[in-house]
Amino acid sequence: MSRLKGENASLGSPHPLSDVEQSIEKIAVGGGPVLDFSYVGIDAILEQMRKKAMKQGFELNIMVVGQSGLGKSTLMNTLFKSKVSRKSALEKEKEKIPKTVEIKSISHDVEEKGVRMKLTVIDTPGFGDQINNENCWQPIMKFINDQYEAYLQEEININRKKRIPDSRVHCCIYFIPPTGHCLRPLDVEFMRRLSKVVNIVPVIAKADTLTLEERDFFKQKIREELRANGIDVYPQKEFDEDAEDRMINEKIREMIPFAVVGSDQEYQVNGRRLLGRKTKWGTIEVENIAHCEFAYLRDLLIRTHMQNIKDITSSIHYELYRVRRLHENNTVAAANGLPEHRLVAHEM
Ligand code: GDP
Ligand code: MG
Repeated sequence: MSRLKGENASLGSPHPLSDVEQSIEKIAVGGGPVLDFSYVGIDAILEQMRKKAMKQGFELNIMVVGQSGLGKSTLMNTLFKSKVSRKSALEKEKEKIPKTVEIKSISHDVEEKGVRMKLTVIDTPGFGDQINNENCWQPIMKFINDQYEAYLQEEININRKKRIPDSRVHCCIYFIPPTGHCLRPLDVEFMRRLSKVVNIVPVIAKADTLTLEERDFFKQKIREELRANGIDVYPQKEFDEDAEDRMINEKIREMIPFAVVGSDQEYQVNGRRLLGRKTKWGTIEVENIAHCEFAYLRDLLIRTHMQNIKDITSSIHYELYRVRRLHENNTVAAANGLPEHRLVAHEM
């Protein structure tokens, strides 16, 4: 195959060289590597997937839950204003998360290095603010199930949308008050119930109100209590896929709950503008890991585990809902002698 150009010309071949032959010739003449015919190009699928994902963009829906005044809205503003979206947050200053009186979603389109992401925050009103907090987890559970239901109805439609709008809650950040003692029965009740339907990431709110020793003690205590109550928060042990996964997730499990501080104010510190909380004795820099664990939380949600958080939502939590719902519907349909293809809207 490796004829040289000179030979070819001198022979006056009646057949012009094909593209492949020409390229082989160039390589042979230049003394470079010879084309490898055993290479099929399967790895190019990665590039194809990358292009498709870049065009589609990504979506992440985060919900925040906790008592009034624990800094939920502030922390979400911090997330939008911090490095994930400093640019787009500046443009959309008006959209600052307002005081929360009902479950409310706010979306921001964030872009970095050509990759688009729609980050939606679902802010909930004070949870457990009443004197009687029995069943106060119900509206939140209902909201989460309603989103699964909406997705399911789209999925079983005969004329399905090419891309089903995804409003499912991928992750629920639960704010624990910085008491420094232990979880309250309400915290246990909420996380125990909700961890079965959504990924829960617990955080210690307003961690700047605890000393470092108090923080460490409280964190450890919470981990023990979660374990004792059989509460499986994200990243759940049973969904570790392999040894590498386990190693990475084990480190995160040792850090949970993240002790966070939120702020939507920027201050000048050593010539740099930083998000922080100014006190008489200095400024707490919320993105500085020496000051608090906000950056770890953000990295988990966006930089390292976003895809996994979404996968678990869809393949575990949503799947459970779907199976239960279809099963239930079949039972109802069979009892009434009805066709099974349409789900009856109904309260879960
Ligand atoms: P929400 O009711 O949970 O949404 O709480 P807000 O975000 O409205 O915050 C309530 C108050 O707590 C505001 O005055 C905030 O400035 C303050 N706050 C928010 N985050 C923190 C924090 O991390 N540390 C401290 N010390 N105060 C905070
Ligand atoms: Mg609020």
